[in-house]
Order: sequence, then structure tokens, then C-alpha cells
Amino acid sequence: MKRVETAIVIGGGIAGLTTALALGRLGIDVKVFEQADSLREVGAGLTVWSNGMYALDELGAAQDVLKAGQVVESFRFLDEAGQVLGAVDLARLERLVGQPSVTIHRRALLHALAQVLERTVSGCSIHLAEKFLRYKQDGGHVAAYFESGSVHEADILIGCDGFNSLVRKQVLGDTDRNYSGYTCFRGVTEFPEAEIPRGAVWHTNGVGTQFGLLHTGAGQMAWYATANMPSGVIEDAHERKDYLLDRFGSFHELVPRLLGATESSAILKNDIYDRSPIYKWSDASVLLVGDAAHPTTPNLGQGACMALEDAAVLGRAVKGGGSVEDIFDRFCKRRMRRTSFVTRSSRRAGAFNQSENQWLLKCRDKLTAALFKGGSMPTIDKIMGYKI
Ligand SMILES: Cc1cc2nc3c(=O)[nH]c(=O)nc-3n(C[C@H](O)[C@H](O)[C@H](O)COP(=O)(O)OP(=O)(O)OC[C@H]3O[C@@H](n4cnc5c(N)ncnc54)[C@H](O)[C@@H]3O)c2cc1C
Repeated sequence: MKRVETAIVIGGGIAGLTTALALGRLGIDVKVFEQADSLREVGAGLTVWSNGMYALDELGAAQDVLKAGQVVESFRFLDEAGQVLGAVDLARLERLVGQPSVTIHRRALLHALAQVLERTVSGCSIHLAEKFLRYKQDGGHVAAYFESGSVHEADILIGCDGFNSLVRKQVLGDTDRNYSGYTCFRGVTEFPEAEIPRGAVWHTNGVGTQFGLLHTGAGQMAWYATANMPSGVIEDAHERKDYLLDRFGSFHELVPRLLGATESSAILKNDIYDRSPIYKWSDASVLLVGDAAHPTTPNLGQGACMALEDAAVLGRAVKGGGSVEDIFDRFCKRRMRRTSFVTRSSRRAGAFNQSENQWLLKCRDKLTAALFKGGSMPTIDKIMGYKI
């Protein structure tokens, strides 16, 4: 049986770089193709929960990510007035998994992953400004065609090209995307170090809205704010800031201060979509990974963590040997139940948290207080306390 010797990875995001790391560490010659002219991520923060850090540790990247980010020291749920409703027992989570949870600026995460790749893998090259168009398979080889006119061949091709993946489109055809009914604004701002609750991730429940602040280290705070609205509205940056200041003006004082401190031009907006879980991620020598395979809403902070888990599991599957079909089969069997559970749980959490029904909101706040009374909750253990 032929060993996998060469791989093409489409997309140089979180899934792409960690997949390259997982394959490169096994001695596979990996070429990463990214459509942008630099490796870049949007200016926002991210939580890599313990389960994601566990996967990063297996890939030899946990320490670098830890250094570039901030260990989460308090994860609290608050009401609009700033009253604490509950908290996640982070020490317990760390004991379960053996890794802390970390908040990090997305750019810093991508930079750390690129550095680990460069330092630890010799057979990996990154090709920028290369937009993938399609693939063609023939006799156990796959050829990738790019907008630039270049064509590259390898034993396998891994689609890490995100939500609007062209690799996915070719593997599966058109698949439905679901608009959640809410949008998410995000930003990052410098904030006086003395006023930053060190290692804080504080999530505030509102009426049809959620506001989260994340201390990402080095005097920086990242935040997110959700609101129920149709997709495609409030696209102007200045309008966004006015809208947010008005909508969140009555929240506990850190919220309007953070919004006020953020440059209008640094406020991002993403209408929140996911796709229903599907049970086919491969086509012979082609496989989907990360958001290309199982895009989820951000309610549980797990999209990137799932991509990290995918990369480590793919590394294990390749190490296990066998035909490409066997390898991809093993990967899918290990990942499908887990990722569909996370996608569905996240969708449900979003519907609940975005509710505007007063009775349901009272239940939500009471439930949060009751569930997190001892600091732990079975769902947190199952999702964030998971070891691949
Ligand atoms: C508001 C919000 C908050 C979130 N918070 C968290 C969180 O706290 N924790 C967490 O774990 N996850 C979080 N996520 C989810 C996380 O951002 C994604 O799951 C993750 O970025 C997916 O990584 P990816 O590499 O699969 O896809 P992407 O990040 O989309 O990367 C895809 C890459 O492929 C490139 N590409 C696309 N098409 C082509 C092509 N044709 N040719 C070449 N290159 C191409 C793109 O340029 C990009 O670089 C959040 C998401 C949102 C929207």
C-alpha cells in the first residue's frame, strides 16, 4: 500500500496551518495555498478552550500559543447590571484536560502557528495569493488548479478553506446554510492595564443580546456583541458604533467604556450562519477539515477548537497507516459525532441566549445560576473538557 508522501492544503487559516503541522510532523511534504497575499486573521479575539489546547499540545504548539495569549483566570456569566450569575470552574477544567483555556488575538494565534510550523517542519511551503478553483483526481493522485494558472499535484488534498469552501462545493455540491437570525459585532481595543480584570472572560446576558469581553493580554481587550436582526444591515462602520453605544449603553460600566474606546473602523460585523451536520467529508483523496467541514455558530467558542481537534486526529489517522480511503474513514468516524454534537448544541445555545421572551430569559438566568452553582456543568465538561 502506498504511503502518503505529499499533501496539498487549501487555506492558510487556523485549520490550514494546524493541518500542515500535523502532516508535516509525520514527514509528509506539505504545500499550503492561501488566496490572500499574507497570512492574516481578522482583528478580533478568540478563546482556545482546554480541549483545543490539548490538541495544540499534541501538535507541539501549546507552549507557543500560551506565550502569545493569556490564560483565562475567570469565566463569569453576568446580568446587564453586572451581577454575577455563575462562573466556570476553570481549575477543574484544567485538571480534567491537563491544559488551561487561553484567550488570544487571532493574529497572534496565526503568527504563533506559523512560527511553530517554520521551526519544527522542514517539508512545508506556504504559497500566498493562490486562489484555489477546483481539483481533479486520477489514479490515486489529485491535481489542484489555481486562478493564477498554476497546477499542483499531491497524494491527498485537504480543504481548509472555511465557511464558503470551494473544495466543499466540489465534494458535496451546494449545501444549505442557515442564518441564525442574529449578527455578531466584534472589536479589540487597548485598555488601561490596571483596569483590566486579568484573564477575564465575562459574558453578559441581555434581552435578545449577549456581550462578551476577553482579556487577551498585553493591555488589550477583545469583545463581542450579538443582536437579533436580518442579515446584511448596519454595514457602515460609524453606524455600527452608534448602534452599539445606544444598544449597550445601559449595561454595566465596562461595556459602554470598551465600546467607546474602540475605533469605529476596528469594529467588525459577522452575520452568524452555520450548516447542518452532514455525513460525507471526503471524495477519494480529498478531505474537508475545520469550518469547510462543520461550520458552527460561535455560542460555545468551539469553531477553531474543532479545527485544532481535527488536525490532531487527522495526524493520528495518517500515522495509523492504510489506504487513503481507510485513513479518511477513520478520521470521519472519530470526528462526525463530536462535531455534529457541538454544532447542534451551539445552535440551541444561540436560540436560547438570543431569546427576547421575558419568561424564557428569567429561566435562562435562573438556569445559569443553578447550573454553575458549583462552578461546573456537564455540558462544559463534555465539550471543553474533551480530550481527543
Ligand atoms: C464572531 C465569532 C466568534 C468566534 N469565536 C470563537 C472562539 O472564541 N473560539 C473558537 O474556537 N472559535 C471561534 N469562532 C470560530 C472560528 O473563528 C472558526 O471556526 C475558525 O476560524 C475556522 O478556521 P478555518 O481555518 O477552518 O477557516 P477560516 O478561518 O475561514 O480560514 C479559511 C482560510 O482559507 C482561505 N481560503 C478561502 N477560500 C480559498 C481559496 N479558494 N483558495 C485559497 N485559500 C482560500 C481564506 O482566505 C482563509 O485564510 C468564532 C467565529 C465567529 C464568527
